[in-house]
Amino acid sequence: MNLELSEEQTAARRLARDFVEREIAPHVIAWDRAESVDRAIVKKLGEVGFLGLTVDEEYGGSGGDHVTYCLVTEELGRGDSSVRGIVSVSLGLVAKTIAAWGDEEHKRRWLPGLTAGEYVGCFGLTEPGTGSDAGNLATRAVRDGDEYVISGTKTFITNGTWADVVLLFARSTDAPGHKGVSAFLVPADAPGLTRRTIHGKLGLRGQATAELVLEDVRVPASALLGPEGKGFTVAMSALAKGRMSVAAGCVGIAQAALDAAVRYAGEREQFGRSIAHHQLVQELLSDIAVDVDAARLLTWRVADLVDRGQPFATEASKAKLFASEAAVRAANNALQVFGGYGYIDEYPAGKLLRDARVMTLYEGTSQIQKLLIGRALTGVSAF
Ligand code: FAD
Repeated sequence: MNLELSEEQTAARRLARDFVEREIAPHVIAWDRAESVDRAIVKKLGEVGFLGLTVDEEYGGSGGDHVTYCLVTEELGRGDSSVRGIVSVSLGLVAKTIAAWGDEEHKRRWLPGLTAGEYVGCFGLTEPGTGSDAGNLATRAVRDGDEYVISGTKTFITNGTWADVVLLFARSTDAPGHKGVSAFLVPADAPGLTRRTIHGKLGLRGQATAELVLEDVRVPASALLGPEGKGFTVAMSALAKGRMSVAAGCVGIAQAALDAAVRYAGEREQFGRSIAHHQLVQELLSDIAVDVDAARLLTWRVADLVDRGQPFATEASKAKLFASEAAVRAANNALQVFGGYGYIDEYPAGKLLRDARVMTLYEGTSQIQKLLIGRALTGVSAF
């Protein structure tokens, strides 16, 4: 792997950095307190091409490779994980999955709107009774002539109340476990689909996380994404790339923690000199710096494997596991550097820590990543 970035990759990172400085950084505290980012940011992300990365230009995408995607995702995560997550779901989990599994009609119907930021997508897998054991989901899709009738409840759905399209997973055959699961593209305004915002999140407070209730929602048979009964494979393929995106966002959190902590250490004086002079503060800073570098290199390795068409799922689990735990450690160490000020939301460390914490939970908890890595190592499933 060549660790040197190309001119295009460097330019994309600069573009993302400028975008964050201009459009996101001035609002981060206010959006967090208001429990919502300004929805106009989605359109702006579309205009600058960040919602179309890696998607073919033919469908409104902005192309580019996965290293570029990770660089932009890192910068967004460095600015505000709520915004990063909106992109990771709408583009990463939904648009990219439509691009990978959709037929021509699916692509023409949804991709131009999603990549332009005119539509928002959400990924409906988790249910109240099934989180880690997602293949056991209970939502049902019953075939009725040329339609499916879908009923069930989804929870913790990022972008849920904002979404125009739900990539929804439901049991459509009697085959046991995940073998009976299929994927559907459900318009969010379909009759029988109701949505409720989940308030009171510890972090990612700017995102519209929702519960979706489906009561006899009718979709045409053409809404099926991928073959019937292959929905779990569709979900897992989306999540493997999703984990790379989460890892990149975590690198951004850790980098933001490092930047803020180094700056503060140089400014804050105690015992007659800046706290940067104290060895134990330097230890905190160096621990963060090592976490940043290690997490970034693991993430870039995944992106490089994806770009070269190599298997990457286990490496994505490793990157997500390490980067998410590293982001929590980094934000916590940064908070320590800030002392009591770190506990106040006018300073960045507290929000970084709150936002980082969920990264060890969603798209497979740290325990689930360890089981995936363990299965790859031993050939034994220990779920
Ligand atoms: P559980 O599965 O009940 O796990 C509880 C604990 O048990 C965890 O520590 C887990 O690691 C452990 N555990 C479970 N099984 C095992 C095992 N076999 N071995 C060892 N330990 C085990 N879902 C979506 O579908 N779409 C989204 O957009 C989405 N966004 C989210 C946004 C937020 C802010 C949050 C909090 C969640 C989101 N989720 C989403 C759901 C998320 O993916 C789940 O919360 C996650 O998969 C864990 O499921 P759970 O919460 O039910 O925990």
